[in-house]
Order: sequence, then C-alpha cells, then structure tokens
Amino acid sequence: MYQYRRRLTREVVFGNLALGGYQPIRVESMTNTHTMDTAATVEQCRRLYDAGCEIIRLTVPTEKDAENLRLIREQLRRDRIETPLVADIHFSARAALKAVEFVENIRINPGNYATSQKFSSNEYSDEEYLRELEHVRLEFAPLVEKACQFGVSMRIGTNHGSLSDRIVSRYGNSAEGMVEAALEFARMSEEMGYFDTLFSMKSSNVKVMIQSYRLLVEKADAELRYAYPLHLGVTEAGDGDEGRVKSAMGIGALLEDGLGDTIRVSLTEDPVNEVPVGFALVKKYNDFHLVKGDKGSLPLKHVIESRNKQPQHALITDEQPPFNPFCYQRRLSRPLVLAGMVVGGESLPRVETEVHGQLSEGHALFEEVMQRLAPEMPEDSIRSEFVSVRVSSREDLEELDALLAKLGDAGRFLVASTGDVALFAGLLDKVSKVRFDIVEGERLGEEFLGLLHNDRLAAVELCFIHDGAGDAVPAAVLAHFAEKLRSKGVERLFFSVLSSKVIFVYRRLVQAFNSRSLDYPLVVRFKKEASDRLDILIDSSVQAGGLFCDGIGDMLAFHTGMSPDDEVHLAFNILQGARIRMSKTEFISCPGCGRTYFELEKATAAIKQRTVHLKGLKIGIMGCIVNGPGEMADADFGYVGAGKNRISLYVGRECVEENISEEDAVDRLVLLIRERGKWVDVQ
Ligand code: SF4
Repeated sequence: MYQYRRRLTREVVFGNLALGGYQPIRVESMTNTHTMDTAATVEQCRRLYDAGCEIIRLTVPTEKDAENLRLIREQLRRDRIETPLVADIHFSARAALKAVEFVENIRINPGNYATSQKFSSNEYSDEEYLRELEHVRLEFAPLVEKACQFGVSMRIGTNHGSLSDRIVSRYGNSAEGMVEAALEFARMSEEMGYFDTLFSMKSSNVKVMIQSYRLLVEKADAELRYAYPLHLGVTEAGDGDEGRVKSAMGIGALLEDGLGDTIRVSLTEDPVNEVPVGFALVKKYNDFHLVKGDKGSLPLKHVIESRNKQPQHALITDEQPPFNPFCYQRRLSRPLVLAGMVVGGESLPRVETEVHGQLSEGHALFEEVMQRLAPEMPEDSIRSEFVSVRVSSREDLEELDALLAKLGDAGRFLVASTGDVALFAGLLDKVSKVRFDIVEGERLGEEFLGLLHNDRLAAVELCFIHDGAGDAVPAAVLAHFAEKLRSKGVERLFFSVLSSKVIFVYRRLVQAFNSRSLDYPLVVRFKKEASDRLDILIDSSVQAGGLFCDGIGDMLAFHTGMSPDDEVHLAFNILQGARIRMSKTEFISCPGCGRTYFELEKATAAIKQRTVHLKGLKIGIMGCIVNGPGEMADADFGYVGAGKNRISLYVGRECVEENISEEDAVDRLVLLIRERGKWVDVQ
C-alpha cells in the first residue's frame, strides 16, 4: 500500500529468455499480419525485433496457421532473430497442439478453450458444471503434456467479456469470474505437474482490469504452489493518446503495486509503436531493481538482499487500508461549492491547471488564462475549470487585481497559490480558492490558523510540498491541520500533496484522514515539467490515474510543461480512461491481428471523426467476429469485422446488421446510432 516492492514470482522460461523472478519486466507486442502470409509476418517480426521488442505473439486461428509457424520461425532464426515467439490461441485445441512445436510460449484463453461461449444465460447445475470441467480437462491434458515435452511455457490469458458460459452462470461477468476461470486451468496444470505458467486478466475497463489482477494474486498466491508471473495489459485500449493513457494507467497502477513481469501495450496502430511506450512504462521499475555501479549493473537479487539488511519502517498491519483494492468505491468527501461549481461529494472530479506565465506578464498572462478557461465554451466542455496563478510578491497582488478586472465574470475561476503567510492573507478576499504551500519544517502558528474562517471569499487548499521528507510526514502534518481546523468549524478546505510519489503519499493521506473521520475533499496534484511528452503522459496516467481508479481524488490539478491545450486534454483523457468522468465518446478498439480482414486503423479513424462528440457513448471497433463481440464487453454499439471487407453492426451484444460492405459500414453505424436515439448534433 505505501511503498514499492515487487512481488517475487517463479521464473518462467521463454526459450532463451526468462521472465518473472529477478528478471527485468519484459516488453511484448503482437503481429497484426495474417499468419499464413509468411513474408509479411516475418517482415513485421523483424521490425518489432529492430524496435527492441523482447517477445512476439502471433495469432493462430487454425492448424494451418500453426503449421506455418514453422516457416516463420525458420526464416527468423536463419536471420539470427532469436526473439521468443508466442502462439495466441482461441477456441482451437488442434491449432494449439500443433503450434506448441514451433513457439516458446503458448497463450490460451480459458473462456473459449474446449468450452462453450454462446453468451446464453443458462444456469449450470453442479453436475453440469463438473461435467463440462471434466471435458475441459480431457481436452487440455494433451496440450499440457506436449508443452512439457517441448519445454514450452503457457499463459492462461483471461479476458473480461470472453468468459465461458459455465463461469458466467456461476460468477457473472466479473473479476471473480475472471479469476476462477484462470484458476481452474492452473489447478489442472499443477495436478499434471506442469508449473511453467503465467497469467493475464485483461479488460478494456481499466478499473476491472486492475481489480481482477489484484484478486487473482490474492487468491492464486493463497492456493497455488508457486507465485506465477503476470503478463499485464489493457485490451482494446484504442489508439493515440487515449490508448496510451489507458494502457499506462492500468499497467502502471499494477506495476506500482509491485505486480507484473511482462507487459503489452496494445494499440490500434502499427504494433511497432507499442514497443517504445512499453519500455517507457517499465523503465522506472526496471531501473529500481538495478544499482548502477562502476562495474555495470547488479541484478535485483543483490539489491533485495542488501535492502533487506537496511532498517525499514514498521509494517502497518492494524490499520484499515485506505481503499478497497478489489472493488471500486469512491472515497466519500464533503461537497464544497467553488465559483458556483460543486467539488467533492458525488460531483465529477474537476480539472485545474496552472499557467506557465507570471503575473508580471500582464496581457500575455490574461491570454493564457482565457485560453485555458475558454469561458465561451459550454460548461461541461474539455477545458480547464479552474486556472491557478502563482503569487510571489506584493507587486503580484496588484497585478492580480488588474488581471481579475480584465477577466470580469471569468475571474471566478481563477485560483491563486503562495507559500507566504502575508500574501496568503491578502488573497483570501480576492479569488475563489487559495492554495497555501506548506514546506516541511516551517512552523505555522495560531496567526496563520486565525486567518482561516468560513466567511472569507476563498476556500483554502493546504498543500504539503513533499521534497525529501519521510513519506509519512505529509499525511501526519495535513491530518494535524485538518483536525485543528475542523475543531474550529472551518469547512471550506481542500488538501493536497505535491510529490514525486503521488500514489503512496495520497494513500497515506487518505488513511490518516479516514482514521480520523476527516472528509475534506482532496486535490490530486501532478507536477512534472522538464520531461518529454510521452514521459509526462505515462507518469501522470500511472500516478494520478491510478489514484482515481482507486476512488481517490475530487479534483485533478496539473503542472506540466505541455501546451495549455495538450495539458487539458491529457487531464480529461485520464479521467475518461478511469471512467470517472466521460467527456467524449469511449472507443473500445482492438489492435487487430491475423483475424482482421478490413482496414481497422482507417475505420477507427473514420468512426472517431464522425462520432467523437457523443459524450459517454461506448463504441466497440473490433477486428473479428470470433472474439470481437465478447471482448468489446460493455460497448453500446459495435463495429465488428465479419470477413473479407465485411462488417457486422451490434447494439450491445445483439448483431443487428450482418455482413455489410466495409464501404457503407461507417454510414450505417451512424444511422444506427441515430435510429436508437443516441445521436446528438455537434454544437
Ligand atoms: S478481437 Fe481483434 S485482436 Fe482480438 S482476436 Fe479479433 S481481431 Fe484479433
């Protein structure tokens, strides 16, 4: 909960590469060519290898595709490309049995391996359940035996939305169902003496994905013989920034938990694009395990051994965790009204950004504030709802008056920050919120607390600047102030921490507040200025997004070096990715693979262009009819590949138009959305 420590797993071999244990977290990708097209597949594998991809997965829909793996493998090995290959199997046990001869790892989906998946709601009696499980065992046993014989490891890869009818009948389409589906196969493997297993629990819903991996670890580690490694991924994450944000949020939240041994960032783009995102995501955690010295790097084992000799803070055992890791529940905070807008309580998390300019810049700063606030746009648009300016001197106070006069009514949304008590006093009657920065070691006496009472214009945010102080200090200091101010009856308060360890310090803060029944709203602050765009995108999605996925946060405040527009879009992408605040259409699009027979990337772009304004609507864009309808899970509408240049359209899980031409399909989808009353015109 409060500090990073990687879960130590059993090391599993992928040919000449190992993962789990003390190995670095590996980065995988998957081809989207047809596996029967040897030249195209070999070429794509080569490009993935050149990009540094450590494990390559190929789809294997039939026995013929499995047989063709032989050729693909031969050509790659002839060119000295030794990257481990993984066969991705759905439904076909025969394809699996053949593929196992030519790959280092085999992925099976327990939802459709030798089992029915008709999305029927039939109840299974105990007897029927056991009968089907026995059938699965008989079908699965030869694969396990052959995997043993060929030294091939196996991923039990569960996907939310493609669970078997048997599992759904008993557990529903839930995290529990996903976990049980995987455990059934793991139990059978262990009974057969096979232990080269790893797991994945993917979903396009980031919160479901995070919760199911955690639940799996909880249950599997209690029951199974070994702690098996985890392959992490968010399915159908989509493309562009949205795909990167969702993947970083889901995968990163688990990496922060110390879970995960190999990852795939799946994007509806050229698979080569997945590789740099994957490495950017695991870098921090792999670096953590390596001590750089004169003689190079030491493996994690040495680090852990030396770390274990050092004193560590006492384990926190008798406290309630700050959130439920297995089930989403938003932290209950009191609602406060700020500039006519409710913040906290059940209201949508708000967005605040900080100007790059200084108050002394006059008109230039006014323009930046207006660009961020965009007050001419409708209230629920993608724009910064509050904009923060820094006040560092008496002159700044005067400049602030001038700025407020120029802003007129929009000035309500201006907030100010300072670390100076005298300036703070001068701000309380000017703006709607004042952030006061508390630096460790600074004494804030009764004089400061006396400034805080409910009849001032401004609400106050107390922000602890966590800069090298012990990780528990911000929570202790802020909880102390919060208790004091509550006893004085001060209501309009927010709390925050500015730290590079956002997740851990906020968890501590929530724990400290919960244990004292303090319900003041929290502003999740993320600051990273001197970094490249991808780094900011990934780190903010992991840190801030991870907290929102666990129900922590009432406002998201950003300080990055990005342009105002970019920064605001990133903040909204994070809230949308966590499904906490929907500000546009939610696209659930798969990356495509050898089962895709239409131009998936082009179709995704065309659908996005026409429908991106349909706030909250979920549209699935899936490469194939075999897995698409199941894996687009809770989409309202589905655009699913049905064969060569043919598309089927879905409303929920019901197919309403079959095999229409790819040329007409986007128009027909728009028509369908209109017919079902879900269309709104662009304003
Ligand atoms: S849904 Fe997409 S990625 Fe999954 S099997 Fe079908 S085409 Fe491949």
